[in-house]
Amino acid sequence: MIVRAALPTPLHRLFDYLLPLSEPEPQPGCRVRVPFGNRELVGLVIEVSETSDLPRNKLKPLLEILDRKPVLDPGMFKLGQWAARYYQHPVGDALSHLLPVLLRQGKAAEFAHAELWRATEGASVDRLSSSAHRQRELLELLLQHPTGISADALRAEGGQTQLLKTLAEKSLAESFEHRPTPLHADLTEDLLNEPALPVHGEQAAALDAIHAASGFTPFLLYGVTGSGKTEIYLQAIEKTLAAGKQALVLVPEIGLTPQTLGRFRARFRVPVHALHSNLSDRERLDTWLHARAGSARIIIGTRSAIFTPMKTPGLIIVDEEHDGSFKQQDGFRYHARDLALVRASRENVPVILGSATPALESLHNATLGRYQLLKLTRRAGNAQTPRFELLDIRQQPLDAGLSDELIRRIHQHLGCGTQVMLFLNRRGFSPSLICNNCGGVVDCTRCDAHMTLHRNPPHLHCHHCDRQTPIPRACSHCGSTELKPLGIGTERAEDALQKHFPDVPILRVDRDSTSRKSALEKMMRVVHSGEPCILVGTQMLAKGHHFPKVTLVAILDADAGLFSADFRGMEKTAQLILQVAGRAGRADHPGEVVLQTLHAEHPMLQTLIGSDYLHFARQEMGLRQAAALPPFAHHAIVRGEASRQGWAEQFLQALNESARAQVQLPEGVQVIGPFPSPMEKRGGLFRAQLLISARSRPALHAWLDALIRQAEADPQGRRVRWTLDVDPIDNY
Ligand SMILES: [Zn+2]
Ligand SMILES: [Zn+2]
Ligand SMILES: [Zn+2]
Repeated sequence: MIVRAALPTPLHRLFDYLLPLSEPEPQPGCRVRVPFGNRELVGLVIEVSETSDLPRNKLKPLLEILDRKPVLDPGMFKLGQWAARYYQHPVGDALSHLLPVLLRQGKAAEFAHAELWRATEGASVDRLSSSAHRQRELLELLLQHPTGISADALRAEGGQTQLLKTLAEKSLAESFEHRPTPLHADLTEDLLNEPALPVHGEQAAALDAIHAASGFTPFLLYGVTGSGKTEIYLQAIEKTLAAGKQALVLVPEIGLTPQTLGRFRARFRVPVHALHSNLSDRERLDTWLHARAGSARIIIGTRSAIFTPMKTPGLIIVDEEHDGSFKQQDGFRYHARDLALVRASRENVPVILGSATPALESLHNATLGRYQLLKLTRRAGNAQTPRFELLDIRQQPLDAGLSDELIRRIHQHLGCGTQVMLFLNRRGFSPSLICNNCGGVVDCTRCDAHMTLHRNPPHLHCHHCDRQTPIPRACSHCGSTELKPLGIGTERAEDALQKHFPDVPILRVDRDSTSRKSALEKMMRVVHSGEPCILVGTQMLAKGHHFPKVTLVAILDADAGLFSADFRGMEKTAQLILQVAGRAGRADHPGEVVLQTLHAEHPMLQTLIGSDYLHFARQEMGLRQAAALPPFAHHAIVRGEASRQGWAEQFLQALNESARAQVQLPEGVQVIGPFPSPMEKRGGLFRAQLLISARSRPALHAWLDALIRQAEADPQGRRVRWTLDVDPIDNY
């Protein structure tokens, strides 16, 4: 017998192995260990067959069948294969995304060892000598896992597990028998720890619609910030749990905050399983197994959680569905929101996409009647909608991006004892360093981009390839030593604010200031204390966190995305502005949102402040339709990158021509390019791209099939690394 397996390799094909006579026939979805070149790989059985395209003497026997029962149930197995085909990604690599790391490595699909370790009651590191570093570290790890942790998981977190015995001898640690069944796994009554909030009007209508749904029903829940979307999610989940089923909630990367989790955990008596980046591989596998067994009833996670199996699926929710982090941007470029729709349809369950600023794709689907649109246009409780204002800064003197009028407003709000938030989507001190003498700018040698200046500590940093260098003393073009910062980043704004408001804490929130997790938590403590303070930061501020005491939100440069080369630029700008604005004035504090702009008459800004997101979206949709751009067309981009300029473009050109020689271009398919990418050089490589636009998906996929066949056969392909992006979300 021949076992046909999908292996995690970059090749678009399956691999055949001989089944040793002694082995039973494995079912599709079981893992096998096989020889591959001089390595061993773990793959999944796709089928067992009598025949192979290769002669028998070329086939190797497989080494081991790892599962007696399939690790993937047929539904997830098929979803993975469907996604591989849809995103034109090698099936073996795509399927490996469906498995937790330990299963990819060939570990048993079983719960953690029966033996777990925990700190004994009252154990504290103070009882260890201060020089016993490794023992203290190990005990600290144990204290962080009060419900117990396996030795494997401890090791994965860097614990020296050979010292467990020593700790046990000192009565500081103990092992115990682990029971994998979580509390309240089959609860369908008395589900709540705290009562649901009362809902009225639009909220009640939305819930009625969701409760009435049976089977696959997609909802687009459009709800302005503060309108109570989360309460809708919670009550929809409650009904799912009452029916004995499981709910899967996807949130953006930055949205999985203790605040979000806290809200879910406070409401329900069943455990809420979070798939966040701090989990060890072991904890991740355990959660996956609980979900597969049906004992994890609520699962919350970021993008990859869409592949969590569920025994009794009941509901899928995608919160902030417009968020770009749902699309994987390298390797297997799937979109978790789109897969949520496919999965819900296959599992025949309702799916809720929620956002205050839905993606135009989703609104388009609602317009076509594919999604049921539910609207929450009012803030819950007595909270008021913030007041928007455009602050025309033409001919206004600015101090590090701050106009006099804005500074006056900040004084006013701080004086009332509330908090202020300033948004600027550029980190660093200044986005470029320019020569006063010749006007030359310091560029990254590996990218078509300026180096960002940082003051603390002083250095230059390329935000595209991560290259860091000292600040040069002299201009490399003319030798002048008069180099000065040009433009404003968050560090510079922070500096200026410090001068204007010496007595008020200034909290900078960006990727640089929060690279240590404790730093962000510390800042959030200041914010939540409610004392007057000024937050200044990048789009990290726009997501996840709620700031009930912020009454003034200012966007320092509302024009940044207005003239983007990307046709999605306007949509992203509108979303960002409204998401940032949504942080202001909740509960009993009315809010004020100020947008500093040089283009106060710009129609998009006018629509956003004068009306709402749906009006903006309608306008933007008209432009997209006229230009035959998504969502009125389907896009795919073939990208190439190579070490020499021109190679990638040549490769894509040849690819396009040879595909055309083989297959006729399907009707309604347009090939644009190849042309150099908007940032041609990045990380030392030269990049080019070929855009394929199609009126229908079958036509698009037919053409992509032809392109991939040519690309895999093309010997030039070796000096050009190429990737394919179906439904790209940006054109970089
Ligand atoms: Zn110069
Ligand atoms: Zn930086
Ligand atoms: Zn660079």
